[in-house]
Amino acid sequence: MNIHEYQAKELLAKYGAPIAAGYAAFTVDEAVDAAKKLPGPLYVVKSQIHAGGRGKGKFKELAPEAKGGVRLAFNLDEVKAHASDMLGNTLVTIQTGDAGKQVNRLYVTDGADIAKEFYLALLVDRTSSEVAFVVSTEGGMDIEEVAHSTPEKIHTFSVDPATGFMPHHGRTVAAALGLSGDQAKQAAKVAESLYNAFLGTDAAQIEINPLALTEQGNLLVLDAKVGFDGNALFRHKDLMELRDETEEDPAELEASKYDLAYIKLDGDIGCMVNGAGLAMATMDIIKLNGMFPANFLDVGGGASKEKVTAAFKIILADPNVKGILVNIFGGIMKCDIIAEGIVAAAKEVNLSVPLVVRLEGTNVQQGKDILAGSGLAIVPADDLGDAARKIVAEVKQAA
Ligand code: GDP
Ligand code: MG
Repeated sequence: MNIHEYQAKELLAKYGAPIAAGYAAFTVDEAVDAAKKLPGPLYVVKSQIHAGGRGKGKFKELAPEAKGGVRLAFNLDEVKAHASDMLGNTLVTIQTGDAGKQVNRLYVTDGADIAKEFYLALLVDRTSSEVAFVVSTEGGMDIEEVAHSTPEKIHTFSVDPATGFMPHHGRTVAAALGLSGDQAKQAAKVAESLYNAFLGTDAAQIEINPLALTEQGNLLVLDAKVGFDGNALFRHKDLMELRDETEEDPAELEASKYDLAYIKLDGDIGCMVNGAGLAMATMDIIKLNGMFPANFLDVGGGASKEKVTAAFKIILADPNVKGILVNIFGGIMKCDIIAEGIVAAAKEVNLSVPLVVRLEGTNVQQGKDILAGSGLAIVPADDLGDAARKIVAEVKQAA
């Protein structure tokens, strides 16, 4: 689960990270009121969406030469003008895709005089099971380009959570940023506060870009992107309240209500599978047969009729879906129960695209009999290869 920049900054401030004053705003008037509470004379008006690249982004509704989603303002009139430009409009950035994201919230902050922009991120290093630090002197809006063309300018190391953050880790960050003296101490402190925030919130990602060095010689977290491990959220009721459902894909949101692991993809074949590994294999074999999966969907081990029905509805709500492949291994769940669920769901949603079902496992024959006796045009398949070939052939024939 991701949160907005202003929420991330409030959170990181609690862990001691240096953050400039700022306020969220949902209307133009609120944006101006927020600026009035700040010392000025420089303000920054920032679009709040769950995507980066806002500074270089473009608003669909504005002229191409209009400024992006992060703008400096030198007086209250400019704050007002920027807020009016942003609120309700669609910001397209390198991370949003062509559809862009509607800006419904702003963050108005105290502007800083930037001398240098650094990059500092914390991630889970799955190979070492440690917390990885990614550090670069080349922060700012072109970090992707830095990673691509001068990867040697990006330093990484990891911290073992069993022993925790040590003073030498702080010195490593400071050295990687080329800082000494008081600024090195500041860098170590920032790194430690971010590490504590990372562990304390069960974060999956904390990305500070830029970590700014101001003309006054202070380090400041100017942009913060924070995401949490969804599997740990039950431990953080307070963080769950930061969820902004308008930022999430509606189908994925619906799926999460039924505890279905669903990810929308760009292909034509909807997939309903139990088990993540089987789902991956199913997607692969669809590709091998020349078509592409429309989604990843793992209904889980204990798929009930309600879950199967919800899964069917979610798959069919995608206008790209031209056929469905159900591939279920009945282990804990018996095949006859699954077959009943499929038949009931197919009837309820008035299935209008070809459906191929491959069942294997406990009570497989009873399951197949239920499908065959349902009166529905369900195409049975014997194994994974057979199922993939059949759904591709059915879809091509229907086209
Ligand atoms: P992003 O484009 O979504 O990554 O948004 P950022 O919050 O990183 O802002 C983009 C850029 O705006 C930063 O890299 C800075 O160059 C600039 N910026 C952000 N805040 C300030 C500020 O307080 N003062 C100045 N001078 N520039 C800022
Ligand atoms: Mg940024």
